[in-house]
Amino acid sequence: MSKSKLTQSVHTGSKGDSLYGGLVNPIYPSAAYNYDAVVLYPRYFNTPNQKAVVEKIAALENGQDGLLFSSGMAAIMTSMFAMLRQGDHILFQNDLYGGTHHAALNELKRYGIDHSMVDVFNLEKFEKAIKPSTKVIYIETPSNPLLKITDIRGVARIAKKHKIVTIIDNTFASPVNQNPIDLGIDIVTHSGTKYIGGHSDLCCGVAISSKRLIEKIKASAMHFGGSLDAQSAYLVERSLKTIVLRLQQQNKNAMTLAKYLEKEPKVGAVYYPGLKSNPGFAIAKKQMKGGFGGMLSFELKGDPEKFLKRLKIIRKAISLGGVESTIAQPVKTSHAKLTPAERKAAGISDKLLRFSVGIEDTRDLINDIKQAL
Ligand SMILES: *Cc1c(COP(=O)(O)O)cnc(C)c1O
Repeated sequence: MSKSKLTQSVHTGSKGDSLYGGLVNPIYPSAAYNYDAVVLYPRYFNTPNQKAVVEKIAALENGQDGLLFSSGMAAIMTSMFAMLRQGDHILFQNDLYGGTHHAALNELKRYGIDHSMVDVFNLEKFEKAIKPSTKVIYIETPSNPLLKITDIRGVARIAKKHKIVTIIDNTFASPVNQNPIDLGIDIVTHSGTKYIGGHSDLCCGVAISSKRLIEKIKASAMHFGGSLDAQSAYLVERSLKTIVLRLQQQNKNAMTLAKYLEKEPKVGAVYYPGLKSNPGFAIAKKQMKGGFGGMLSFELKGDPEKFLKRLKIIRKAISLGGVESTIAQPVKTSHAKLTPAERKAAGISDKLLRFSVGIEDTRDLINDIKQAL
């Protein structure tokens, strides 16, 4: 039976407590299990609380199986390393989450893995960057912080033609809004610290794929060891029960705010894939089936520091995807390590603000921005 995401988010993987008839999954903190049948062990990624989370996210992502990690970077790097060996090449789109960008520059070379970062908004140019040794294509959409849209189907088509494995970082969209496996992508990763956790109180990551590829990633994951403990896994499961509701409100809030900001004279450019004026709108509409997400960015005409100080509801913070609205200045946070020239090339000005829209009342958020402006 195919269920809606609302129903899946509540019920899939949540089997309850067969011993006492409790509605929710018990927390199984054991790190030592009887070994007569299957050997359960937290670092084998097979304990009940880990599996409950994986079943839920795999259902939401239309994947066959998955692995729950202790951070988004653990999910990303383990998936990547599991697909690559010495002498291989990995092709990245050039707009990447800072942590991934940094890891690509600092880790891969030491293991003899070659990489390129190429403009994916020109698919022809992107395809030309494929080498005979290219084994993985890695994309991320919407991108950080300008919410640029990569044509997922277009990239998947190119990868299939060349028999290359594709990995996507689906963090910004969330499993509610975008399901890349349906569009031909092989492996979907999330920083579960963001929308999956959704309450700014836990750190985790997930990789979702086919049974075959998950087995392959799991073989490496057991060596790298980035598994999640039962207590945190339970907290993730609990959070997932409201992920659809949360994202519905975040999608609505972000769309309303983006439209408001676009008309506000004290604000310059607004970046949100749901705006008709956005260059990625047509593709986003096709691939972001659930909504355009809770992330947006905008240019302030005035002083960003003064504006941030005056906000009363919206909090100045890094990270994103929580129920509470947060705002950050990329020049001081995610993109602080870039030189001014590099930032200029990436289109990130000193007055750009990245806004993670929460689930608060839409009018309260607009009024907060209005009074701060
Ligand atoms: C936060 C983030 C990550 C890294 O996740 P961690 O949980 O911090 O390891 C990766 N990709 C994107 C897009 C992110 O926002």
